[in-house]
Amino acid sequence: MATLQYCNICNQALGEPVYVSPRNISVTSNADIVPIPTQVYFCETCGHLETPPFDNLESYYDTGYNILIDSDDEDQLYQSVDGQKAFRADFQLETLLKKQTIPMDSKILDFGSGKGTTLRRLALRRPDIAYSLFDVSQAYVPFWEKFATPDQWATYTLPERWNENFDLVISFYVLEHVAELREIVKNIVRVLKPGGKFYFLVPNVYANIGDFVVVDHVNHFSENSIYHLLESSELSVVEIDTKTHDSAFIVTAQKKPAIEKRNLEIAPLTQRVNQISEYWNTVVERVQVFETKHVNEPVAIYGAGFYGTYIATCLRNLSWVQCFIDQNPYKQNEKVLDKPIIVPDDLQENIKIIYVGLNPRKAVTTIGAISTWSERGHTYFFL
Ligand SMILES: [Zn+2]
Repeated sequence: MATLQYCNICNQALGEPVYVSPRNISVTSNADIVPIPTQVYFCETCGHLETPPFDNLESYYDTGYNILIDSDDEDQLYQSVDGQKAFRADFQLETLLKKQTIPMDSKILDFGSGKGTTLRRLALRRPDIAYSLFDVSQAYVPFWEKFATPDQWATYTLPERWNENFDLVISFYVLEHVAELREIVKNIVRVLKPGGKFYFLVPNVYANIGDFVVVDHVNHFSENSIYHLLESSELSVVEIDTKTHDSAFIVTAQKKPAIEKRNLEIAPLTQRVNQISEYWNTVVERVQVFETKHVNEPVAIYGAGFYGTYIATCLRNLSWVQCFIDQNPYKQNEKVLDKPIIVPDDLQENIKIIYVGLNPRKAVTTIGAISTWSERGHTYFFL
């Protein structure tokens, strides 16, 4: 019997199953009967319920599943209220349009599209959008050909050409079938633009307990486990809606914007660290080259804090340093390296050489703002 050792979402070790069917007969979401037991495990770390994938699950979806393949217009009845029939694709489209503002000319991918019925209806409603289709079967291609061209679809793997391509990825009743859940979500994140949205529906087993024993639903989500999955995948949860649909979670997540993502990458950081290191490697030499050009002239160091003191430690000869200059009134009675600290206005006229010991990002602006110095003909050293 297939077993599950680790959680599909948080990878923590799972204990014994919380449920094993009493018979070796199970039913799939497509109402196929398979001669195996159903097992359900519960992850106490992230609150996920999961069922071991049965053998040949991938080939089942590739060649055996093909839901609603019989005709173009066949659709699943979602509910029938007061004689009004509501079909699943229509409901999905109306809900999507209600919950998502889709900007003009958006690029949208239907992930696990099946025939693409919902997307096709969306495209009729919104001719401005650019849409693409993806599924793990070739069986849907004849349907896609009726409203899309081959560059608009892919099967089995999400192609590199789609990296950071989509404003919105939609996915209806797909993630509950996927054993490699974290891998799939990672790939969806890959094809989203920074800030792009991932909008999906999955069954809510707590609202429809039949989902517990659907043997090809390897994932039975909770709000907890959805949250855990998304937040550990470079996505931020925007909303987990449990109300709009009576037996599904409607989830909106957003790929973290580029600025946050960039902070998570090490390569640019390494480059910047090397730059800063290189900068500090050359500071002593730069100070001393400047010092050599101005021997026997009285000098001052602007900044009685870290940077000013650092410059002082670089100088070969401190005796020409007349004073430190600092605008902080609390420092006026102190000394640095036995030199007095004065305010800019008190600088003697004969001192023309100033080492600026300030954060290099702000130094030029700070010095430029000292109005009484503007006509003094100083020569500055900037870090
Ligand atoms: Zn878990």
